[in-house]
Amino acid sequence: MGRVAQGGTKKWCPTCQSINVCAAVNPSSLGEESEQRWYQKDHTDIQWFRRALVCLECGSSWLTAELPESFLDELVELRDALREIKENAEIYVNESDKASETLKKLSASLSVLRALNAYKKE
Ligand SMILES: [Zn+2]
Repeated sequence: MGRVAQGGTKKWCPTCQSINVCAAVNPSSLGEESEQRWYQKDHTDIQWFRRALVCLECGSSWLTAELPESFLDELVELRDALREIKENAEIYVNESDKASETLKKLSASLSVLRALNAYKKE
């Protein structure tokens, strides 16, 4: 995991996919509530300061959240864990398909055995 420090007041514009000069504006100018302190109702440890930014290059605007950097570490950790779970789930599905085929064959063999046993009893 790596972080890259960047100086200056330029910000990453998600539309331009590059670092440009961005103006900070009140969220109300984007039609959002002007309240700047927010928290998640079900996760009250997640509290952030909301800002609205406007890219002076392309004019697009978006909301940003200032919050403890540890949440970014958690996000990256969760993304990695989720990717691992997805990869493993695909392997398990493939293996389970194979196992299911094997069980069908076993079941067929057992049917043959039962038929043989039934025959012997007579
Ligand atoms: Zn832009």
